[in-house]
Amino acid sequence: MSVDFDDSLMPPDPFADDPEDPAALFDDEVDEPLSDDERNALREDLANVRRFRELLEPRGVLGVAMTCDDCQELHYYDWPILVSNLSTMLNDGPVPVHEPGADPDPDFYVPWDYCAGYADAADWLSRGPRTFRKWGR
Ligand SMILES: [Zn+2]
Repeated sequence: MSVDFDDSLMPPDPFADDPEDPAALFDDEVDEPLSDDERNALREDLANVRRFRELLEPRGVLGVAMTCDDCQELHYYDWPILVSNLSTMLNDGPVPVHEPGADPDPDFYVPWDYCAGYADAADWLSRGPRTFRKWGR
């Protein structure tokens, strides 16, 4: 079970080094409900993904490359998969398995930070002269 207690306040876990930890059995079955913060973060991610897709898909970018929390490897997520994963999680569905697309070509995927920077720049440019007035003399 993934419960985030502060380790220093807890007695040592008797199963800490035991690969047969009985709690591990529940990993796939117990889903804790999302907190409001988590829900808001997901909503924000979903809005961002939609925006990124709008900007980058026309340029040939197929999706986002992200390091997987489970296996620490880079996975490539297509736009539709990102949108449906986030929507599923928002609706308290099961957290989707990290499933790389079939034989993705890394050249067509960019990191999340790239998307965020791109979207920021696009917003800034689209605001036009108003922005200059604010900063200029
Ligand atoms: Zn993985």
